[in-house]
Parts: sequence; structure tokens; C-alpha cells
Amino acid sequence: MNIVLMGLPGAGKGTQAERIVEDFSVIHISTGDMFRQAMSEKTEVGLNAKSFIDKGELVPDEVTEAVVQERLAKDDVQKNGYMLDGFPRTIAQAEALQTIAKNVNKPIDGVILIDVKPEVLVERLSGRYICSNCGATYHKMFKPTKVEGTCDVCGSHDFYQREDDKPETVKNRLKVNIEMNTPLIDFYSDLGLLYKVDGEQEIDEVYSKVKSILQNL
Ligand code: ADP
Ligand code: AMP
Repeated sequence: MNIVLMGLPGAGKGTQAERIVEDFSVIHISTGDMFRQAMSEKTEVGLNAKSFIDKGELVPDEVTEAVVQERLAKDDVQKNGYMLDGFPRTIAQAEALQTIAKNVNKPIDGVILIDVKPEVLVERLSGRYICSNCGATYHKMFKPTKVEGTCDVCGSHDFYQREDDKPETVKNRLKVNIEMNTPLIDFYSDLGLLYKVDGEQEIDEVYSKVKSILQNL
């Protein structure tokens, strides 16, 4: 299965991806996670990406496309397929993905759009916190850990807030992403690949819709 998770920042892509990998054999590829990893390792890609990410801007298409191209060529993707999260974000990236997917013989089976109104997203992003050990995502109000201060998945007590989830950056991130959203939706809708899910429901309800779409792809 080869799919794309689409949705504005905070729509719930990462949250749904955590659930999807439990039920389907597919490799979760988040360009945001890859850039954060590269930043923490201070690689050339990471240092380059940091200047854009810190301002809430998009990393240039050539850089992002190269990262995805390299990742999709790996053996685990050949074997299990991909679930892209946060890519593509521009029409140029979507066009590049058509070529990359063709070259690795893995055409997209479906694009799941998690649809959430922009007004809801500021609250989602400002309350998001992440386990420093395993990367599991929580929310202060909507998805707290079961035991306060302890990660449900790995038991760690160490959490962090993403730098770009702080209010100064959130506004610009949303603006940049909203501008690109409609043309991307049209791109995949025209290809007959788009499946829209109402993302303003409980996490479990969103997942049951996502799961039934994936089971029928
Ligand atoms: P994305 O990967 O699309 O940026 P996340 O999956 O990280 O978004 O979700 C953003 C924040 O919103 C997280 O704190 C997450 O726990 C919370 N969240 C995700 N889905 C829902 C939902 N359906 N209802 C309420 N909060 C949600
Ligand atoms: P995310 O984790 O998906 O919210 O991404 C965090 C940041 O990484 C974004 O605000 C961008 O600066 C950068 N980024 C992630 N994916 C892409 C992409 N497909 N194109 C450009 N920039 C990206």
C-alpha cells in the first residue's frame, strides 16, 4: 500500500499515522521528522532546513524532493510501501512525487485528506507535546498521557514542545500551508486519488473512517 496523508499542520496526520502502522504494514515517512532528525544531527540538510523551519517557512522544493527520493528508494519501502506525511506540500513536489513513485514502481494508491478548519489548528498546535524518547504525540487537553508525566508507549518521563509550535511561528506556518492547500487538493482530486475525512472528530472516530478507506483501497 502506498499512500499520502494530507492536511494542514495540526490536522492529525502524525496521530493517525501512529494508528495506521499498527494495522497496516507500511513505512511512515514524515519529511518534518526527517528534517528534525537532520537538524539534531547537524547534517548539511539539517542546517539548511533549520533556517526555513524556524521561520515557519517551507524548505525549498529541491531539498525536500531529494530527501524523499532517497528515502523512497530504500528496501523497506520496496517491500512494505510508503505512507508519506507532510509531503507533498506544493504542486512542484506533487509533480516530482509522480515521477519518483513511477521510477520506484510504487504509484500512489490513495491520498487521505484530514480536513480541519484553520481556526481549530492553533489550539491543536499550541497544546501539542512529544515524548523525547519515542516521538509519541500528545495534547494537553485532547490527548493527555494516561498517567500524568509518563509516556503511554515507552514509559519515558521526558517530553518537549516543538520550537515551531510556539505562537510566533504557528501563525506563519498556517498561512504558508493554507495558501498551498487548495491547489494540492485539486491536483489529487483530478487524478481521482483523493479521500476526504472530517478531522474535527475524536481521534478514534477519525481513525475508524481512515481505516475503512485504507481497507478498500
Ligand atoms: P500533524 O501531524 O498533522 O501536524 P498531529 O497528529 O501532531 O498533527 O496533531 C496535532 C495535535 O492535535 C497533537 O497534539 C494531537 O494530539 C492533537 N490531535 C490530533 N488529532 C486530534 C483530534 N482528532 N482531536 C483533537 N486533537 C487531536
Ligand atoms: P511538519 O512536521 O510536517 O509540521 O513540518 C515541519 C516543518 O518542516 C515545516 O514547517 C517546513 O518548514 C518543513 N517541511 C516539512 N515537510 C516539508 C515539505 N514537504 N516541503 C517543505 N518544507 C517541509
